[in-house]
Amino acid sequence: MNPELAALAQQVKGFMPHDEGLALYRAAAEVASLGPLVEIGSYCGKSAVYLGAAAAECGGVLFTIDHHHGSEEMQAGWEHHDAELVDPSTGRMDSLPVLRRTLTDAGLDGTVVAVVGDSVTVARHFGGAAFVFIDGGHGHAPAHADYEAWSPKVTPGGLLAIHDVFPDPADGGRPPYEIWLRALDDGYIEHDAQGSLRVLRRSLDG
Ligand code: SAH
Ligand code: MG
Repeated sequence: MNPELAALAQQVKGFMPHDEGLALYRAAAEVASLGPLVEIGSYCGKSAVYLGAAAAECGGVLFTIDHHHGSEEMQAGWEHHDAELVDPSTGRMDSLPVLRRTLTDAGLDGTVVAVVGDSVTVARHFGGAAFVFIDGGHGHAPAHADYEAWSPKVTPGGLLAIHDVFPDPADGGRPPYEIWLRALDDGYIEHDAQGSLRVLRRSLDG
């Protein structure tokens, strides 16, 4: 991966350990010339830098989707709340300005398209993707809704990545692990694992 982008990614606010980000980059780079990459959960753009680096290398594109109002666990009083991301004029969380700055700093404005909206609504109007990375809401309903909306969009031979998959309940919430199990049950094939990142391949005949 481009060392400048690797260095920048590590400075961006967010939830992507560097070793997992590099695994995300490698997986995306395998398929970025075959079709668009999609990310659910842009936040401040940390993982988008790893994915965008892969897209930029082959003239591909990343659509990164977020409503930018934060997941349930990011609201005031919750574990992952960051008061710096609250828009004082609305009192609501808004990570879009930081995402935009990240993409500009990374020189990825021509490669990464920020889609601002609800992921399931976007999915309804979206065609196929060579790569889908699910890292949006981690509650039961949002995680399963993202899986149901986006897993059929992965083109045969393409890759599905899921973040925060914790087989041991002591390490974290269940829903990302549950949707990883669903993907295996639906015929996806294990492709890579790094930390809590899981990458699966959609078989060519499914
Ligand atoms: N990938 C990021 C972290 C994402 S955090 C990183 O590397 O740091 C999860 C994000 O999902 C939050 O920014 C939240 O706003 C977004 N999100 C949650 N539910 C969503 C939904 N239904 N539609 C769009 N975005 C959603
Ligand atoms: Mg995550």
